[in-house]
Amino acid sequence: MAQLELLDAHMGNVGGLPIRRALPTAARRRVGAWCFLDHAGPADLQAPMRVGPHPHTGLQTFSWLIEGEILHRDSLGSEQILRPGQVNLMTAGRGICHSEESLSPRLQLAQLWIALPDAVRHCAPAFEHFPRLPQWSEGGFHLTLLVGHCDSAKEGHHQSPVPSHTPLLGIDLACKAAARLQLPLQRGFEHGLMVLEGRLEVQIDGQHEWLEPGRLLYVPPGGSQLLLRSEGAARVLLLGGEPLDEPVLLWWNFVGRSNEEMRQWADEWNTGVGPFGEVRGYDGDRLIAPDASALRLRGG
Ligand code: MN
Repeated sequence: MAQLELLDAHMGNVGGLPIRRALPTAARRRVGAWCFLDHAGPADLQAPMRVGPHPHTGLQTFSWLIEGEILHRDSLGSEQILRPGQVNLMTAGRGICHSEESLSPRLQLAQLWIALPDAVRHCAPAFEHFPRLPQWSEGGFHLTLLVGHCDSAKEGHHQSPVPSHTPLLGIDLACKAAARLQLPLQRGFEHGLMVLEGRLEVQIDGQHEWLEPGRLLYVPPGGSQLLLRSEGAARVLLLGGEPLDEPVLLWWNFVGRSNEEMRQWADEWNTGVGPFGEVRGYDGDRLIAPDASALRLRGG
């Protein structure tokens, strides 16, 4: 296996909600098909988070709620409250739009995007809510299998009900005190570890790093054994997947393959035509796409 890479996340703040963006960055655009990783909060909001109707294409939004409540509405007519331990999976395909509002003063979530491969990226939009996911305890960690499958030496085979269009893995691992866990990795996958809380030692096939919030540890394909160790309370997301060998472009809320597509989608959204539909029931303005006329994205 090649060297591990320790990458800095971008730090931001949206309406009092701190955001750590681990993907995309200049150093890395994807881990498998995971193409956007935001850790939002934890925070006590001064005012509710309200994200007005906005479009997506070519991706799936994967919302994993840790603290609080969020109300999702979309142009398919979905209206779904997301609570801790649950996942909302929205498939944009050729086009969808949605709004998000916090219903609680306290909020913490992982907002992740999955790039759709070229063969399915123009599929019909869809929305699914997953109220329960496989959970088990091992080595002092509490594990939740978000997507994919996991074979644990002691705890057997687990499979997430969340489907994916490319081979993908997502596991949330949380501990309240000192913990130590070994997990096998799929050798064909690349992986990323994103700490949400605390400090963890990560060892993979003889290489090791200490990880804290605000960093992404990139594990190139070929890793076989992961050892996670913490001396106190901690939480980490283990994300992985087969490298997506396609020239994926990401701009604003769109995932596509060309600048022309981005310009067309921005124009269609801003002029109220195109494939995106309409969100009903949200009391507020829709978002406006930035000017895409001079857009010059390069693939990769
Ligand atoms: Mn969105």
